[in-house]
Amino acid sequence: MTHVLIVGASVAGLTTAESLRAQGFDGRITLLGAERHAPYSRPALSKQVLSGEWDAAPIRGGAELSGLDATFRLGRRATGLDPRRREVAVGRERIAYDELVIATGAVPRQPFRASQTLRTIEDAHRLRRLLARGDRIAIIGAGVLGCEVASSAHAGGCAVTLIARGEGVSLGGLGPPLSERVGGLLRENGVELRTWAHVVTVDAAGVRLADGTIVGASVVVSAVGCTPAVEWLRGSGLEIADGVVCDVNGRAADGIHAVGDVAAWTDPSDGRPRRTEHQQTAILQAQAVARAIATGAASPPIEPFFWTTLFGTRILVHGTVRPDAELHVIAGEGDGDRFVFAARREGRVEALVGWNMAREFRLARADLLRAEGSLV
Ligand SMILES: Cc1cc2nc3c(=O)[nH]c(=O)nc-3n(C[C@H](O)[C@H](O)[C@H](O)COP(=O)(O)OP(=O)(O)OC[C@H]3O[C@@H](n4cnc5c(N)ncnc54)[C@H](O)[C@@H]3O)c2cc1C
Repeated sequence: MTHVLIVGASVAGLTTAESLRAQGFDGRITLLGAERHAPYSRPALSKQVLSGEWDAAPIRGGAELSGLDATFRLGRRATGLDPRRREVAVGRERIAYDELVIATGAVPRQPFRASQTLRTIEDAHRLRRLLARGDRIAIIGAGVLGCEVASSAHAGGCAVTLIARGEGVSLGGLGPPLSERVGGLLRENGVELRTWAHVVTVDAAGVRLADGTIVGASVVVSAVGCTPAVEWLRGSGLEIADGVVCDVNGRAADGIHAVGDVAAWTDPSDGRPRRTEHQQTAILQAQAVARAIATGAASPPIEPFFWTTLFGTRILVHGTVRPDAELHVIAGEGDGDRFVFAARREGRVEALVGWNMAREFRLARADLLRAEGSLV
């Protein structure tokens, strides 16, 4: 009986297992996960969990997990891979597989030991406790995560300073004009935005900048990006760049695929491996790999998609808004607080951005994906 071993039991690993069963795979499935928890939603950590609305964020209930007929080995970390023998090491134990799916995600960069990071449920609980007593918080890094922590901390009554390395916030595929609108949202809500700031160190006083100023804070959060969790693959012979290098279908080597935040799938548009840290990409990659393992069928290309909620504003982004794209309003009012923009380049819609118009955004996205023959 074919044995699929999935290393990493979070959203990408779980979706692989669920999709294998949905595609009719009736072999053995094992999920090996370093965390001792059943799979939980990371997007909820910086939103509902940090704000205190939820205490936990399980992706599925116990009955759904048992219904999968998969073996969950939680609290167990893979330590090595021997692709020739088709074995994964967990300390001294060796687990044999026929097909391996690598879904080990990413770990936050931690440049300053006196600062907090946010990746796990334990991190979220710790930060929530700190925010409850800390009245001044400084966040290093003005990407999506930094902005979300700013939003939740502000909602909790903290005074917030967001420290950006560049000219303002930088939200993945949102592009400069719309990132500037996010900067406006932060400022309107009383968040202090420090731009072009180079952090030297973090200590009990707060954050010391290269220009000699100190951003006073009792809690400092580093939100400066992640590195792929590939340590355990050292010496395996797999090609590792910024992530496990895969072809356009997520295949890394014979009998080995990688999905989610750890995986750098080759982008068919330019032939380069690229890693994406978005939940929906993790889900679509997992579905595509499960289909390939169960049926041998290839899947259409995957476009990046992410969402966030900042200060009550729901932002949805499909594709990447490049700096030279033309923005056209396709719903709502472009200068208001509800709209959908299409970003066009060379006559082609490359990206969509929804701002408090989730329904209209989803309809436009479904139309675009249908026209392109991509996965919805
Ligand atoms: C706070 C926060 C908020 C986010 N918000 C959004 C959002 O709003 N929208 C969005 O699109 N995306 C968001 N993301 C990103 C999204 O959560 C990730 O893209 C998604 O979790 C990726 O899933 P994954 O399964 O690939 O990796 P992970 O979720 O990182 O899971 C990897 C799992 O593998 C385990 N593991 C690692 N090494 C080993 C090993 N050697 N052996 C066994 N197990 C191992 C890890 O412990 C972990 O449980 C957010 C992320 C964070 C941290």
